[in-house]
Amino acid sequence: MSKTIISVQDLVKNYGNFQAVKGISFEVKEGEIFGLLGPNGAGKSTTLEIIETLRPKTSGTVSVDGLCLDKQPHEIKKIIGVQLQTSGYYPGLNLLQLIELFSGLYNRDVDPMELLDMVNLREKAKSKVKELSGGQKQRFSVATTLINQPRIIFLDEPTTGLDPQARRSLWELVKQIRDKGTTVIITTHYMDEAEYLCDRVAIIDSGKIIAMDAPDKLIDELIATGFERPKEMKMANLEDVFIKLTGHSLREG
Ligand code: ADP
Ligand code: MG
Repeated sequence: MSKTIISVQDLVKNYGNFQAVKGISFEVKEGEIFGLLGPNGAGKSTTLEIIETLRPKTSGTVSVDGLCLDKQPHEIKKIIGVQLQTSGYYPGLNLLQLIELFSGLYNRDVDPMELLDMVNLREKAKSKVKELSGGQKQRFSVATTLINQPRIIFLDEPTTGLDPQARRSLWELVKQIRDKGTTVIITTHYMDEAEYLCDRVAIIDSGKIIAMDAPDKLIDELIATGFERPKEMKMANLEDVFIKLTGHSLREG
């Protein structure tokens, strides 16, 4: 896990007079799950979309697997997976047809059923996106990032709005994808999720990186300052109750 696959140096993004990204630098290592954390408006999506070649930057340098964003955006597109907005464009197609369509567009030979199996949606192959639950939609959206067999996938808040089980189901999917060798960049507002999933996180606030390390290291650093939780935690929390009562551990969601 030592090779750098994404390198961002002094990245700046201005929207008119407003500077949304203020000169950030970070590297993502091959095979890691890297989290971008930060409050709404911090600049996470802007940063991701610039790396994804979908949004122009103001200044700075970005390279992806040795490819220069300015000179080789089309080469970069070929090796990254971005969540597609499947619901808006082709509402008449079912999941199987959508995967076939996209694999055709990417000129890739994918087995759609194998992909649907991986995200636990085989039974929904003939369903339309609008007929899926929130969790199923997100799993399908993650599946669409894999169609071009990318080296890196980008997931922007993939678990926002999901119920606790659907969230956990997605965590396992993300781990599974990484275990097959794909690098993952993810944004989330859930710190338990970042702690569970991410090898390293960058915390962004108002367009600046204010901390970057493994979650465990950041926690240890905080403890070293003398920080203590205000009260002793119980051995379980309400989420544990919810999962215990409603869950068949990780049922589909
Ligand atoms: P995050 O994903 O961390 O919530 P964003 O990258 O979406 O943050 O947005 C960062 C800041 O840039 C926000 O203040 C947002 O309002 C602003 N912003 C995002 N997109 C645009 C745009 N197209 N035009 C102008 N301002 C934008
Ligand atoms: Mg965002």
